[in-house]
Amino acid sequence: MTKNTPEIVQKQQEKSLDSLIETGQLTDLFSRSISYLRVSLTDQCNLRCLYCTPKEIEEKLSCGELLSYEELLRVIGLAVELGIRKVRLTGGEPLVRKNVISFIRRLAELPGLDDIRLTTNGVMLESMADDLFKAGIRKLNISLDTLKKERYQQITGVDIFNRVWAGIEKVEAMGFSPIKINMVALRGINDDELVDFARLTLTHNLQVRFIEFMPIGDGTLWGKERYISSEEIKERISILGELEEIKTFRMDGPARIYRFRDGDTLRGSVGFISPISHKFCDQCNRLRLTSEGRLRSCLLSDQETDLKTIIRSGGSDKDVKMALVQTILNKPKGHTILDKDGGNCHGQMSRIGG
Ligand code: SAM
Repeated sequence: MTKNTPEIVQKQQEKSLDSLIETGQLTDLFSRSISYLRVSLTDQCNLRCLYCTPKEIEEKLSCGELLSYEELLRVIGLAVELGIRKVRLTGGEPLVRKNVISFIRRLAELPGLDDIRLTTNGVMLESMADDLFKAGIRKLNISLDTLKKERYQQITGVDIFNRVWAGIEKVEAMGFSPIKINMVALRGINDDELVDFARLTLTHNLQVRFIEFMPIGDGTLWGKERYISSEEIKERISILGELEEIKTFRMDGPARIYRFRDGDTLRGSVGFISPISHKFCDQCNRLRLTSEGRLRSCLLSDQETDLKTIIRSGGSDKDVKMALVQTILNKPKGHTILDKDGGNCHGQMSRIGG
């Protein structure tokens, strides 16, 4: 049998990349079909959440270090040609990036992209809700870890709870849907509010999602004593009534969704996102573009592809598509954050895009 030379191996790899590019279906080595791109528009944020923004890393990316809107539209357009169907804008705080509304308007015009979502801390929602609606955004995730004004300031560093809450009420009244409230549960910090958050779903058309705290980036708060499992949260909120599971579609994401059995069916639901206790890597359909223009196939693995350099050194559309496909082919089978040495995730949430 003749042995394959490195040239033959490279040719074969290029051929299989070519066929992947042509099929318009992105599938990784573990048969996961990748259809969801999360884009960190900026690493800047107008809050300083104590578990998310490391105090010592105050250095922010300069404007030129971020991918420009033109570059983003090009990459996302090519990703859509390859089979990406859903895009989430995140950060940092995506709404602090200049001219974000006109960017969203242009994004919404991309043929083949019919699902654009936004994750925000809600600080600028009240003032930007009308423009966001007009630009085509309907689906919002709003991060909120407390319903108490003073505690909000302690967690985020800014005394602005009332404005965030006014924004939430406004988008609910305007008909944005779904509106998901992301609450990271932290023992000893906000776990006395689990029931209050769950109760919101009885009176508001919101999905309250309890997120397990992940040991990522700075992680100064990480420790067994802070982490609360979804099972424990579920148990604690069940004093409000029996929870019944709602079936979801794969594109809806990894949350397990429930409704209180006796609740008004027109009202909200609760969700559990359990990256630690119920690793959902086998269903992960995500690819990420960091605010530094790097492609990342796993939130919890620092393995990245430097797409910005490919673009800025004159890379063709095919080169960009190759980088997208190659990153997906390198997607790890599962995260290793719980390994003894903490796995290989040392990135900063605001740059990766939470
Ligand atoms: N600024 C936007 C916001 O606040 O929604 C988007 C970026 S923020 C990094 C996205 C989400 O990541 C927030 O809901 C935040 O609570 C969550 N997050 C940050 N660090 C986390 C951690 N260590 N574990 C779990 N969730 C985290």
